[in-house]
Amino acid sequence: MAETLTTPRGMNDLLPPDSAKWQHLEGACRELFARFGYGEIRPPVVEHTELFARGVGDGTDIVEKEMYTFRDRGDRSLSLRPELTAGCARAYIEHSIAQKEPVTRWWYVGQAFRYERMQTGRYRQFWQIGCEALGVAEPTVDAEQIAMLVALFARVGVAPVEVLINNVGWGDDRVAYRAALVAYFEPHKAALCGDCQRRLVVNPLRILDCKVEKDKQLAADAPIVLDHLGAGARAHLDGLRATLDAMAVPYRVDPRLVRGLDYYTGTVFEIVTTASHLGTQGTICGGGRYDGLIEGLGGPKTPAMGFAFGVERAILCMPDPVEKFVAPVGLYIATIGAAARQRATALAHGLRLAGVTVEVEHREVGMKAQFRRADKLGARLSLALGDAELASGQANLKDMVARAESPVALADLTAAVLARLA
Ligand code: AMP
Repeated sequence: MAETLTTPRGMNDLLPPDSAKWQHLEGACRELFARFGYGEIRPPVVEHTELFARGVGDGTDIVEKEMYTFRDRGDRSLSLRPELTAGCARAYIEHSIAQKEPVTRWWYVGQAFRYERMQTGRYRQFWQIGCEALGVAEPTVDAEQIAMLVALFARVGVAPVEVLINNVGWGDDRVAYRAALVAYFEPHKAALCGDCQRRLVVNPLRILDCKVEKDKQLAADAPIVLDHLGAGARAHLDGLRATLDAMAVPYRVDPRLVRGLDYYTGTVFEIVTTASHLGTQGTICGGGRYDGLIEGLGGPKTPAMGFAFGVERAILCMPDPVEKFVAPVGLYIATIGAAARQRATALAHGLRLAGVTVEVEHREVGMKAQFRRADKLGARLSLALGDAELASGQANLKDMVARAESPVALADLTAAVLARLA
């Protein structure tokens, strides 16, 4: 017997009916983000490896250890995208968007790939939905995005969530903070994990994001970035807070919040769930400013603010059963014989074009089994067609909820069904 094939480790099939929940979430994003002026971008899944090395940062775990990198037949180094912001930044520069519009708002939904250790809510292929607002330096746009996310999660029932914000500064703030971190960790160097010993040299900020317990304990007493912010970053944080307050969006300032990607400057934020079933993977959404990224990739100086949330993690926090998201069957047509099946198929076609979800029994199976299936599908109405109904041009339309039947002329079926479902 041939060996059966399975998905690669950490990569999942999404099947109906579960996909209905995903569609609901994506639909809510599409509708809400449009109101905030976001248009959809679809960058490629594969980019030049250099984009992520320069964009995400070659000292990050994502680029160093987790990327799916390969050589194509032309011997170019390509990588499956580990996130989508770098691709958006590349597209923004490549298409000279800055010269075409002063403010750009993009949103995306797509797969990202990271070779990670698997756990609940942590996969090797996962989906991200995100937004990027380019061209605005003011903190009000940061607040606008956070408020939009809070509204989105409330609307689709992703709960319970908490918003954490911080400001990691940039320029001189970062130099000062970096020096303070090095001074603090240097005496404890031997106690740090191997990765963090390296981070101490490359990017000490990242030690604060380490998941190793001993390092976490050390990091708990490390200097906090807020004490090293200059007037600009401080005013930005105040502006963000004041705007969130004005919108009555609850949040907590978490002075230890840093993010695992190098491009963040100034505002960083996370939306975490307090639901226990996600365990250590409680971060649903991460984002912040990346005011230096576009310029760093060779584009014009462009302030920017963005976020991405993990679709699988958001779905895990939507407690409603999938059945709630599946379009209900309006009419089930049971059939006996080939002639009835043909007529049923034609009748169903007209009803479907009129907007009704219809299921026709195309198989030659007994009536009892057909009505069991109608029940299982949760059909609102049903109709049985056989030779007698074809001959008389009439059939009984049954209300499956009220369990009541009434005769209808087949010629008037569409109107009768629409009236019942209204
Ligand atoms: P990041 O791009 O690392 O800031 O991640 C943004 C969001 O993507 C996280 O908050 C998660 O919800 C999600 N995410 C990141 N990595 C994974 C993964 N390996 N599996 C599932 N979701 C992930």
